[in-house]
Amino acid sequence: MANLHEFPLLALRGRVVFPNTTMSFDVGRLVSLTAVKLASEKDSRLLVCTQKAQDKEDIDENDLYETGTVVKIRQITRLPGNTIRISVEGLYRARAKQIFKEKESFICVAEEIMPVHGDVALEEAYFRTAKEILKDVTSDNRFAKETLNALERCTDPDEFVNIAANYMQIRVDQKQELLECERTADRLKLCDRYLNYELEISRLERKIGAVVRQNIEKNQKEYYLREQLRAIHSELGDDGEEKDELEQKIKEKGLPPEVEEKALKELSRMSRMQSSSPEYNVLRLYIDWILDLPWKEQTADTELLSDAVKILNEDHYGLEKIKERITEYLAVLKRTDGANAPILCFVGPPGVGKTSIASSIARSLGRKFVRMSLGGVKDEAEIRGHRKTYVGSMPGRIITGMKKAGSVNPVFLLDEVDKISSDLRGDPAGALLEVLDPAQNGTFVDRYIEVPYDLSKVLFVTTANTLDTIPAPLLDRMEIIELGGYTSEEKKEIAKRYLVPKKQAANGLKKEEFSITAGAIDALIDGYTLEAGVRNLERMIDTVCRKAAVKLSDGNAEKVCVTAKNLADLIGAKRYERDGGALTGDEVGAATGLAWTAVGGTTLTIEVSAMHGKGDILLTGKLGDVMKESARAAISYIRSNSESYGIDVSVFESTDIHIHVPEGATPKDGPSAGITMATAILSAFTKKPVKKSVAMTGEITLRGKVLPIGGLKEKALAAYRKGIHDIIIPADNQKDLEEIPEAVRGSINFIPVTEVDTVFKSAIIGI
Ligand code: ADP
Repeated sequence: MANLHEFPLLALRGRVVFPNTTMSFDVGRLVSLTAVKLASEKDSRLLVCTQKAQDKEDIDENDLYETGTVVKIRQITRLPGNTIRISVEGLYRARAKQIFKEKESFICVAEEIMPVHGDVALEEAYFRTAKEILKDVTSDNRFAKETLNALERCTDPDEFVNIAANYMQIRVDQKQELLECERTADRLKLCDRYLNYELEISRLERKIGAVVRQNIEKNQKEYYLREQLRAIHSELGDDGEEKDELEQKIKEKGLPPEVEEKALKELSRMSRMQSSSPEYNVLRLYIDWILDLPWKEQTADTELLSDAVKILNEDHYGLEKIKERITEYLAVLKRTDGANAPILCFVGPPGVGKTSIASSIARSLGRKFVRMSLGGVKDEAEIRGHRKTYVGSMPGRIITGMKKAGSVNPVFLLDEVDKISSDLRGDPAGALLEVLDPAQNGTFVDRYIEVPYDLSKVLFVTTANTLDTIPAPLLDRMEIIELGGYTSEEKKEIAKRYLVPKKQAANGLKKEEFSITAGAIDALIDGYTLEAGVRNLERMIDTVCRKAAVKLSDGNAEKVCVTAKNLADLIGAKRYERDGGALTGDEVGAATGLAWTAVGGTTLTIEVSAMHGKGDILLTGKLGDVMKESARAAISYIRSNSESYGIDVSVFESTDIHIHVPEGATPKDGPSAGITMATAILSAFTKKPVKKSVAMTGEITLRGKVLPIGGLKEKALAAYRKGIHDIIIPADNQKDLEEIPEAVRGSINFIPVTEVDTVFKSAIIGI
């Protein structure tokens, strides 16, 4: 027999491969994969036969059409999951004479089907008809351009049928018929029929397409009209959902009538605007502010005063007098609704617990707590807000704080009232006064909110470092509660009871993992911090805890026990010596003074040098005007009493006096350095040394009287921290001694004086 060949056979589902065409398909079944494998091992040729029942998974030879196409595999691509994609080129038609299974694959012996030409004229007629139909099809875009070109160029009728059949969207059995048909004329006839059919279908499709398009256009038109209708509605002010929703919210919020009216008015303005316009958003934001602010939401205060006091005590160590005053305040507040309660102002150096007491008041009352810092506030608008006509305008900090609080009766802490300043942009202190004044704050008007807001239920508390810079009218409204500073003993207790547990927990250190001895805490207080409060101490404890956490996490230790000895290994060497800043030995021309600065009490050494000159007085260092005057008064006193100290009067004419107060200590109370300067000057002129164990504070008059000073407690604490044993104080300040903690009083000898002469006798050796 002629042209018989053995090929691996591949069963194809749902498609028919024709000669003169290429096709790719995925292969996954084992029989087919093996067939591909066998073919690629030989000449890459296979017979591809279509499967009769497309869905059948396991097939035998009877499930296949016998006629197929011999193809050459051009490319094999591996796909995930044991599948391959092959690309094949159809070579010629062939009929399987025999099909059998071998090595998991179908193998066949196939015979090539040769074209059978009959009546040439008839064939030609069919061929031309086919090409004619193709022209109509062309105008219809049914075939891809390349296919049409290939068909037009085609001169072989069988090749034409193969290519056309490959692209026609006819059923598989119809395609198979085209493949099997032997006589070329019959093939062409069938092809004409199917092409005509294709044409008919495409005409129908066009018609249907037009109808569909009409429908879509109709939908679009309706959509467009509806959009216009919406715009008209919004123009008429009866805009849909957003407005309704906001209106409902405004009505349900229970706003004061005036506020509700204003909000509804702005809402109606808003709904007349385009939602994309900036004005719309300004109004929307405004309404949101009105809705977010608390207008009547109020928290209930703690019922029992004793419960409130318990919380106060829980939160802070010591501060007995302050807690007592707060307790009184709370008791009155409960009875009077706080209408005329003074505004508490906690004054003291940083880190003494001003802020935390304020938040403790909130906690003890069961109220919300908000805090606002006034440090550096220069612009009135920061308090009162910007008009909403400005782009990006916002309410002021008071209203913002109220929103944050979410209730009308929070504890509102105004931090650093002493740092508020005025300039060209208005008077923030004046605005603040309005906020704090019970006669006015029931109707506080923020420029942004525009309607009055009731601040009368707010419990305002303020803090300051110093009273000097608080504007007088503001000061007038406030009740001052001073927090002086802590002794080392108090600091130790605060650290032990509060700061260590707090920082230990914050750094995730378990009880059994970490401990710190009392000695280490002492070392932290004396060697690493020099302050009236405990803020740096808290920071240092935090550092210690962090370092311990690192050690534990590194696996270097299971437990870290911090002692005075190993402290330096953890956080480095000491920063301060206990007696630094004061005289280190008995010295001529220098004396230790005590000053009160914004950060608490401190010691300072005043140095005086008397040198040959013309009687000039030179003052250097950080000296305020008041201090300069004290210096002149001191010099004048010594000059006029020079004889009693054994100094020749004429010396003053030929001596220049240089007084220096080192930087770093900027006393707030200038005059209190008067007696210290006088002592240093006298020592310089008499060349007699000043005792290093003595520190002093007091104002001096021209007649040598010693006048009282302020801040004795802080000054005493500072001297105590530095290890000074004797302090000379004005006799009039003796009454303040009771404020000074026991521990300090016990270890310091206070020397009350009325005359500067006594000062000299106590401080200068040999006078
Ligand atoms: P201020 O506002 O005076 O600058 P803070 O209120 O911020 O100081 O206090 C600093 C830290 O010290 C806070 O963690 C606070 O809890 C703590 N602290 C201050 N005084 C005491 C105290 N008497 N008892 C317990 N903790 C205190």
